Amino acid sequence: MDTELNRQDHSYDQVLQEQAVRARRNSYAPYSNFAVGAALLAADGSVHTGCNIENASYPLGNCAERTAFFRAVSEGQRNFTAIAIAGGPVPPDRTMASGKADSAAGRDDQLVCCPPCGACRQVMREFCGPDFRILFSDGAGGFTVRTLAELLPESFGPEAVNVVEQEVPE
Ligand SMILES: [Zn+2]
Repeated sequence: MDTELNRQDHSYDQVLQEQAVRARRNSYAPYSNFAVGAALLAADGSVHTGCNIENASYPLGNCAERTAFFRAVSEGQRNFTAIAIAGGPVPPDRTMASGKADSAAGRDDQLVCCPPCGACRQVMREFCGPDFRILFSDGAGGFTVRTLAELLPESFGPEAVNVVEQEVPE
């Protein structure tokens, strides 16, 4: 649990975006040099962050969004309200290969449009309802807001295999 937030309205959006940008600084992406951070807001107001973590065995890399989800679920969370995602390329002089990866704060202004990949949308679907809010950097200095129902229509979820009762995105 990183932060307690008021979730009565969307006033947490700005904080969530800032947390995603901050989490991005911990990205381990020496192969793609594309750094992503995510900040996941749980229903109890706690925020759980994640970053992308790559591997020399390329397919084993994990996205920031799933890192945040798996971290939160492993800490006992099952209900979520929103996630913010901040992603973009690491400048050549800030890559791990450059030997200056510790200067990661310099990455903060390199955000591009970074919606969640298909795998992460499916993981969101496991734990979230259709109104779950997804905020992702738009590449123009702001964040685009979508719902899970918008990003994953006609989806397959846990209720299809009778594991749990859950809202179905329309
Ligand atoms: Zn992903």
